[in-house]
Amino acid sequence: MRARLALIAALAPLGVARAQQPPAWPQHSMERPRPPVEVAPAQRLPVPAPPGAIVLFGGRDLAWWEKSDNSGAPAAWRVANGAMEVVAGTGGIRTRVAFGDVRLHVEWATPSPAHGEGQDRGNSGVFLMGRYEVQVLDSYRSDTYADGQAASIYGQFPPRVNVSRPPGEWQTYDIEFHRPRFDSTGVLVHDNVALLGPTSNGRRDPYVVHPDALPIALQDHGHPVRFRNIWAVPLQP
Ligand code: MG
Repeated sequence: MRARLALIAALAPLGVARAQQPPAWPQHSMERPRPPVEVAPAQRLPVPAPPGAIVLFGGRDLAWWEKSDNSGAPAAWRVANGAMEVVAGTGGIRTRVAFGDVRLHVEWATPSPAHGEGQDRGNSGVFLMGRYEVQVLDSYRSDTYADGQAASIYGQFPPRVNVSRPPGEWQTYDIEFHRPRFDSTGVLVHDNVALLGPTSNGRRDPYVVHPDALPIALQDHGHPVRFRNIWAVPLQP
């Protein structure tokens, strides 16, 4: 799977706020049409990190990662065979360094054989700035609400296509993320398609002012999802 996300929120001229247009569909609507299913083209994996990239996980250790619970404790996920794997119940993890605008490459695989269905099937997530989730889920021949399937911006926007690979197969996200811009009054303004705010379950939360750079986080949703070959290129604002 390959997702290029333009999550763009930028200052409008003179700091004039423009209203965000929420999706026409209520959050998690089961009536919302699912994106068309397509077979993803073959990829050569892993994708090598380009010069200048920060390799956040190269397959050996979690030195760049810590628990997301503000304890500063080391990430407690398993590392084996060049991949990290969620250890259910140990909690999400995040990078020890912060990122704002960033190009992020992540390879991931859902458990095989698959267990559960819907949101209870290979669920994890990549959280830009710790709060904007690109969903990780087993959406291969498995249905859920459109704004919660793999590659959705969780609870907001479905992907354009469902190019999910089968459980256990490596797939990739290439995310180009442009952080929200807040003006000095804390009002979000923008000039392009933008997120609606932090991603959340069961409601749509508004933006709350936050620092210009924050850790990237990975979710423990109780499923042994694996990740590997994670690298980031900070972008010039
Ligand atoms: Mg998730």
